[in-house]
Amino acid sequence: DGLSELLLSRVREVPDYPKPGIAFKDITPLLADPEAFGALVEALATLARELGATKIVGLEARGFILGAPVALAAGAGFIPVRKAGKLPGATLAQSYDLEYGSAEIEIHAEDLTADDRVLVVDDVLATGGTAEAAISLVRRTGAGLVGLAVLMELGFLPGGERVRKALGDAPYQALLTV
Ligand code: 5GP
Repeated sequence: DGLSELLLSRVREVPDYPKPGIAFKDITPLLADPEAFGALVEALATLARELGATKIVGLEARGFILGAPVALAAGAGFIPVRKAGKLPGATLAQSYDLEYGSAEIEIHAEDLTADDRVLVVDDVLATGGTAEAAISLVRRTGAGLVGLAVLMELGFLPGGERVRKALGDAPYQALLTV
C-alpha cells in the first residue's frame, strides 16, 4: 500500500556494513523526511492505541528515536531498554547470545507497574535476539506485555518466528518485510 511504499522508499541499503556481506538497512533518510517519519509514528501510535498500551518500551538506540514520539502520540509513557551499564538506577538485566559472544540489556523495572500494558518498539528485527530478550525483560518486571512492533523485518532470517514464539498470544507487527 501507499504507506509501505513511502517507508520502503526512505530506507537506504548500505552494502558491507558493519562488515563484509551484510546489507545494512539505514533508516536515517526516513527520519530526515518529516512526511515519512510522521506516517511511521502515526502507524505505530495507532497500533499502540488499539492495544491499549500505557507504556512504550524502546530498544537502544533507534528504538528510542521511534518509541518516544509514538509514546507521546498514543498518550503512553516511554521506557528505555539500554545496553548494560547505561541506566543509573536499579535495573533488571537480561543477556542473550550473539553470533560471536553475548550481549546484555537492562531496564528500570520500577518505572513499570503490574497495571502497565507494554508495547515494545524497535526499528529492525534481524535474528530476533534483541527483541526476544526485551520481551523476557518486560515479562520479568511483572507488567503486561501487549505486543511488539518494528518498522522492518528481515524476512530471510528466522526472527519473526522466534519473536512470535516468545510473544505467545500478544501480537507482532512488522510494517515492512524485506
Ligand atoms: P537482532 O537482535 O534481531 O539480530 O538485531 C536487531 C537489532 O540490531 C535492532 O536493535 C536493530 O536496531 C539492529 N539491527 C540489526 N540489523 C540492522 C539493520 O540492517 N539496520 C538497522 N537499522 N538496525 C539493525
